[in-house]
Amino acid sequence: MNGESIELEDETIMFKNEVESEKIEKTERSQIKRLPQRGEYDRQEIYQILDEGLICHVGFGVNGQPFVIPTAYGRVDDRLYIHGSPASRMLRTLKTGIEVCVTVTLLDGLVLARSAFHHSMNYRSVVVFGTASLVEREEEKWEALKAFTEHIIPGRWAEVRQPTHQEVTGTLVLSLPLTEASAKMRSGAPSDDEADYALPVWAGELPLKMTPLPPIADPRLAPNTPLPDYVQGYGRSSN
Ligand SMILES: Cc1cc2nc3c(=O)[nH]c(=O)nc-3n(C[C@H](O)[C@H](O)[C@H](O)COP(=O)(O)OP(=O)(O)OC[C@H]3O[C@@H](n4cnc5c(N)ncnc54)[C@H](O)[C@@H]3O)c2cc1C
Repeated sequence: MNGESIELEDETIMFKNEVESEKIEKTERSQIKRLPQRGEYDRQEIYQILDEGLICHVGFGVNGQPFVIPTAYGRVDDRLYIHGSPASRMLRTLKTGIEVCVTVTLLDGLVLARSAFHHSMNYRSVVVFGTASLVEREEEKWEALKAFTEHIIPGRWAEVRQPTHQEVTGTLVLSLPLTEASAKMRSGAPSDDEADYALPVWAGELPLKMTPLPPIADPRLAPNTPLPDYVQGYGRSSN
């Protein structure tokens, strides 16, 4: 629908964290152009979105062909880590040091307007630019592997079998510095045309949240293995 893309760029005021923290410097390519008031360069707010997300999309070009590949990730301080098989085209390509663009999107709700045109979504998203490098130092690789597990489900790393030497060496880990990044957010009610507010059409927000369903034990679970608290109480939202 044509109108959606336009409405998504409306003037709704964004939620802002009041705590001041370091800003990531804007560059020509990370500068939000449309509705810059929705943009955020606060490092901690960017980290909050990255930490709440589960999946990133990695965009890169090979001989003029763009690829956007969804994958897991982890963050340690000011570095984003992605990992996988040494056979992965994405990892093999990125380790050559080509430019990469990584995005993370959190969908917070559907925005139902009185007109089709002004339907929208509430979201928080991050775009990161840079070049990734191969993690070779054993200690850093280990830390990244821990971050992947803890990013998915905090508390898990300490409980599970640690990776073997073979598993570690058989995994490629790339590190992307979080030095060039932007966040963008939309929240709040729809923004209808003034004349449409009189229409008898329900309008408002349908908040969406990722919530777990009851866990399903592996049929081969060792007898009397308790369900960990971190599974029972799992949730991702920071709000
Ligand atoms: C769930 C969702 C749905 C959306 N739906 C639409 C839609 O239907 N139509 C539409 O036009 N837009 C939509 N957007 C917004 C879209 O992501 C862009 O922000 C928008 O296209 C404006 O781009 P631009 O031309 O101003 O900037 P661009 O020139 O495309 O971007 C300039 C720079 O701004 C930053 N930036 C732009 N967008 C984002 C972002 N979302 N998060 C973090 N940094 C960003 C990046 O650093 C980028 O390089 C949606 C966003 C989300 C998260």
